[in-house]
Amino acid sequence: MTALPHTETGPGTGTATGSTTGLRTGADYRAALDDGRDVRVDGERVTGSVADHPAFAGVVATMAGLYDAAHEAGSPVVDPDSGQLSMFTVPRTRAQHDLRKVGLEAWSGAAHGFIGRGPDHVAGLLAGFAGAAHLFDTEDHQQGAAVVALREEAAAKGLWITNSIVPPQQNRNDPTSRVTPTHLVEETSEGIVVHGAQMLGTGAAVADEIFVTSVRPLSPTESEKALSFVVPVSAPGLRLLCRRPYATAGAPFDYPLSHRFDETDAMVVMDHVLVPWDRVLAVGEVDVVNRQFFGTGAHQIGNFQSIVRLGAKLRFLTGVASLVAKANGRDTDPGVRAQLADLATVQTISQSLTESAHQFAEADADGVIRPAGQYLYAALGMQTDVYPKAVRMLGELVGGGVIQVPSSVADFDDPDQVAAMDVVMGSDEVPVDERVKLFKLAWELVGSEFAGRHVQYERFYSGAPPVVKMHAFRHYPFGDVERLAQGFLDSYGV
Ligand SMILES: Cc1cc2nc3c(=O)[nH]c(=O)nc-3n(C[C@H](O)[C@H](O)[C@H](O)COP(=O)(O)OP(=O)(O)OC[C@H]3O[C@@H](n4cnc5c(N)ncnc54)[C@H](O)[C@@H]3O)c2cc1C
Repeated sequence: MTALPHTETGPGTGTATGSTTGLRTGADYRAALDDGRDVRVDGERVTGSVADHPAFAGVVATMAGLYDAAHEAGSPVVDPDSGQLSMFTVPRTRAQHDLRKVGLEAWSGAAHGFIGRGPDHVAGLLAGFAGAAHLFDTEDHQQGAAVVALREEAAAKGLWITNSIVPPQQNRNDPTSRVTPTHLVEETSEGIVVHGAQMLGTGAAVADEIFVTSVRPLSPTESEKALSFVVPVSAPGLRLLCRRPYATAGAPFDYPLSHRFDETDAMVVMDHVLVPWDRVLAVGEVDVVNRQFFGTGAHQIGNFQSIVRLGAKLRFLTGVASLVAKANGRDTDPGVRAQLADLATVQTISQSLTESAHQFAEADADGVIRPAGQYLYAALGMQTDVYPKAVRMLGELVGGGVIQVPSSVADFDDPDQVAAMDVVMGSDEVPVDERVKLFKLAWELVGSEFAGRHVQYERFYSGAPPVVKMHAFRHYPFGDVERLAQGFLDSYGV
């Protein structure tokens, strides 16, 4: 392949369009989803656009709203220099680094952290890859220019690229297993042909494209799995097998979070899918695939979104906890205040780590500013424990109040039922419907299927907990603290 010149913008030199020309609107996003993609849910292939299907319409409306809001003057998610979504910017200056954070906070805050793999997640990975595009140029394949162009295109349009970066879970000791992780079939003049499955693509059903690779380090013998590419969801041969949708669980009043934020998860199955060269980052080269996340700033920049997003979720959860305490008149009780303080402490620690990761960020050898690993990975490592803990704390606080609610909003249509509810929870201070609304929201955090999925999500957000904690281990300055301890030991003898 011929090497194309890299055109990544250098330090502080934005393309300075000063407008959002090219950035899609909500209507553009919705239109793009009507592309004949093969999405399977509840025993059927979705016919028509996923944007109109009840399983996906809610989250599509949420995302469309975010795209539209990005067009408002002074939008916090737009880099004024480039007119592009700031989360796609390769952070080479402190100002760009700061803008990324502001943009991530705005989108995470708008979705209260419940959209984990929105456009803002892979945007950070692409920024990291493009910032060190030379890594993708080897003797056999010169894909660096394609990496740069991919980031540029995704940033200009604000594409939603989600990721699917682990193979299906399987019993590796089962000789009869037919599980087929994604692998290369052949390289052609048009691109690469890939076949097999990836474990999950969160958001894939409503995204534009999927980034597929292996985040698990590969051994030298696994060159056929050494792939890194981005593929449109509508590519012929690509099928999504969705898990149960939660948005269809009931009325928006009864399942307010499911309705707006069920980003959906799907197994990704590829049957001889052709990926054009301009969407290929790496093929057949174990070394490139193994170094793409950590030899570039991608893992750190991409996962900064993870911890900003978790912070938004914890703030929201703490807010609900405080409202519940007030609704039950327990907010002045010292025991309940201690419970709320514990929750607030969890949220504050998470926020402090995020602020530190941002504050102590440093430029790497490519001049790309990476959030500080020590704090970033401490936050990621805690995520797996912290969110389930926060949910447990809220669960303890809400007691049976989340069950002491009518079966659905339809009960409010019957005056007889409303009168009966009044006996259980009537008050002049808090109308029955307001109380039911609050406790149904709390159930979406502690008990609904949406709630359970989010606990599992946070546990495995960045991989299996022991793997994530290894990143935290690697980035902690153990040498410094050992010297402290050793210095003390050396100060005395037998
Ligand atoms: C709701 C949800 C959404 C997801 N969305 C996505 C997505 O969008 N994209 C994507 O790529 N993936 C996604 N995933 C998958 C996620 O990346 C994986 O769950 C994660 O990488 C762990 O892999 P696994 O599930 O196969 O668990 P396993 O690797 O089987 O881990 C399960 C357990 O095995 C043990 N274990 C595993 N490895 C080790 C080790 N090295 N040392 C010690 N013990 C170990 C631990 O007890 C661990 O908790 C999602 C998962 C969930 C739950």
